[in-house]
Amino acid sequence: MGNNKYKILIVEDEANIRSFIKANLETSDYQVLCAETCELGMMMYASHHPDLILLDLGLPDRDGMSLIQEVRETDTVPIIVLSARSNERDKVEALDLGANDYITKPFSMPLVVKHIEAVLRRAEQGAGVETNI
Ligand code: CA
Repeated sequence: MGNNKYKILIVEDEANIRSFIKANLETSDYQVLCAETCELGMMMYASHHPDLILLDLGLPDRDGMSLIQEVRETDTVPIIVLSARSNERDKVEALDLGANDYITKPFSMPLVVKHIEAVLRRAEQGAGVETNI
């Protein structure tokens, strides 16, 4: 629906994927921040307070799982994992750590946008008045 105010942090080490997602989200009027490592991701998160984090798991410095863990110690900001790891164990672990959603690569960008919208909508209803899924 365009015209939105949300700031999204992409933590992804592959430049092609990163710029592809960034370009698509900007087309949908999201503000986009990027980081290519967990370390940078945590710094960007701390200084920019994004509304949502789109997180790869296979990152050069640390596993993305550790970022979920670290963020969840203090914050409920929505986290969507975007990973090539398609096994159940990883999905369960990510969700257990507090990820809100898990999308497997290769992904379809329109679907990613829909997942982002849904997660943001749920986050806004956070106080839990009503859910209409
Ligand atoms: Ca990766």
